[in-house]
Amino acid sequence: MNIPTSTGANGTVTLVGAGPGDPELLTLKALKAIQNASVLFVDDLVSDEIVAFAAPGARIVYVGKRGGCKSTPQAFIEKLMLSAAREGETVVRLKGGDPFIFGRGGEEVEHLQAAGIQVNVVNGITSGLAAVTSLGVPLTHRRHAHGVVFVTGHAKPGDIGTDWRALAATAHSARLTLVIYMGVSGAKHIQNELLAGLPAATPVAVVQNATLASQRHITTTLGALAGAISEAGLSSPSIIVVGDVVSALAQAAAHPHARRTG
Ligand code: SAH
Repeated sequence: MNIPTSTGANGTVTLVGAGPGDPELLTLKALKAIQNASVLFVDDLVSDEIVAFAAPGARIVYVGKRGGCKSTPQAFIEKLMLSAAREGETVVRLKGGDPFIFGRGGEEVEHLQAAGIQVNVVNGITSGLAAVTSLGVPLTHRRHAHGVVFVTGHAKPGDIGTDWRALAATAHSARLTLVIYMGVSGAKHIQNELLAGLPAATPVAVVQNATLASQRHITTTLGALAGAISEAGLSSPSIIVVGDVVSALAQAAAHPHARRTG
């Protein structure tokens, strides 16, 4: 694959969703963008097998925690991308799941566009979707749910955060499945708040490392959630799924992309 060379004109930045982990869940568009990039800025949650699709001469910059230090500050990542684009590079910003689901992709696009850089976005399969499917659970099985809510368990600093009580009441009356990202460390609080509007017996599944060989999951109830998470030793990255669709798990056959779980 050719690596585009600098022309003196601005390059482009493509935000690429790397999907939940399994490289076979990449889109063809994502694969092509990765192969064409001259510089890649890679998040923590992107698996090595996916980074390996980059062209041999491409520059790979890890901007997550795997360099041994804390994550690179967001403003610094944006600055690095901007200067690479200004040098005429073909930049790919490789992000876990979908770039526009809780990945701060929106902020990156705003920053780059304000600086006059052309930005493209390639969707990825978001982990909330893949985690549930990997258990064989149909997210909106019409016997159990009318819809689904993707919600973060981790508010931006200074933000008041999710109104879990209102959400629980709505999920109960409107029969919505809750798919909670970044919820494991705050599970006790989320559990207590959700119990204000949802029955303690509401089925819950927690899936860690969805679609990777290291995938593990538990099923429990809302009333027992936090205890079950610590007993099983589940940690980030995990998806918490709350709703009656989880009860379909027992009957459902595992989806082929659940490589190993339990
Ligand atoms: N943009 C990403 C989400 C980024 S927020 C997406 O669309 O998936 C990071 C959170 O995503 C993690 O804390 C976790 O809740 C979830 N996550 C990402 N990859 C995951 C995986 N393979 N298994 C389970 N949860 C995952």
